[in-house]
Amino acid sequence: MKPAKFDYHAPSTLDAAVALLQHYKGEARPLAGGQSLLPMMNFRLVTPAALIDLNRIPELAYIRVENGALRIGAMTRHRALEFSPVVAERLPLLTETIRLVAHLPIRSRGTIGGSLALADPAAELPMLMQALEGEVVARGPRGERVITAADLIEGIMTTSLAADEILCEVRLPVPSPQAGFAVEEFSRRRGDFAVAAVTVVLERANGRCSKARLATAGVGPKSIRLTAAESVLERGNIDDEAIEEAAAKAAEQVSPQTDQHGTADYRRHLIRVLTERALRRARSTH
Ligand SMILES: Cc1cc2nc3c(=O)[nH]c(=O)nc-3n(C[C@H](O)[C@H](O)[C@H](O)COP(=O)(O)OP(=O)(O)OC[C@H]3O[C@@H](n4cnc5c(N)ncnc54)[C@H](O)[C@@H]3O)c2cc1C
Repeated sequence: MKPAKFDYHAPSTLDAAVALLQHYKGEARPLAGGQSLLPMMNFRLVTPAALIDLNRIPELAYIRVENGALRIGAMTRHRALEFSPVVAERLPLLTETIRLVAHLPIRSRGTIGGSLALADPAAELPMLMQALEGEVVARGPRGERVITAADLIEGIMTTSLAADEILCEVRLPVPSPQAGFAVEEFSRRRGDFAVAAVTVVLERANGRCSKARLATAGVGPKSIRLTAAESVLERGNIDDEAIEEAAAKAAEQVSPQTDQHGTADYRRHLIRVLTERALRRARSTH
């Protein structure tokens, strides 16, 4: 299949890109890595009047540390994150997570902004955003606004971004050096979207858990925080008994779908196993 006819623009500044989106009154789409948008256009699942190509806007690709958070430009490629020494040192959980995203050619073009704007329920980066309580910055004709991880993704492939807004920056708070973390995923083949996945961040003090953040991918219409499991762990103990109880609560909390990759019961079982595994690993990381 070929895409339906569309206009193409490649602005060199963010302001020009926003102006173009506004000009098309919601009928244009930003083009990032094109790894999902172009196949969707080829299948005519989407038929934008125009593509606003963000690839020639240098101000959108960077990785820096500011105010205890990683600040990542939306056009930063998955591959750049995978090999960034800054990410490896400050947020190794992101290095670990990005390796689960798709296959090498897709990681070479796909971007962090594209992945979050796409909001696939099985994608790993929205899960990481939830676990780290990150936020994004969006720019539109009315200026800039900050959107929290909890408010960004509304449902399957649906975000709170307006049609004339561009996601320009992703902010991921860096956990303390004492924090333990892990991501565990089950997929049919390495690089496939998750059938189910869990990310864990455990803040610790004197061997006890002071704050727990757990989030999912692949179960339900969007990534959720496993708040019942977090409450169990925030009692302080992270012994085997607490981990088993938290994993059971995690499985109770999710409402997974049945599809060609697995039944709801199977996914619920996976969440229990993956939560337990992630917690055991997070407990032993330094
Ligand atoms: C075979 C295959 C396997 C994959 N496996 C995985 C996987 O395991 N895990 C995973 O997470 N992903 C996976 N992906 C998706 C991949 O991560 C893509 O990179 C991602 O979906 C989209 O990123 P992109 O930069 O290519 O965005 P694009 O395809 O260019 O855009 C996607 C959508 O986001 C919008 N958009 C893009 N950038 C912005 C922005 N800055 N502001 C506002 N809107 C924007 C576009 O208009 C479009 O609607 C897979 C893709 C393929 C084809």
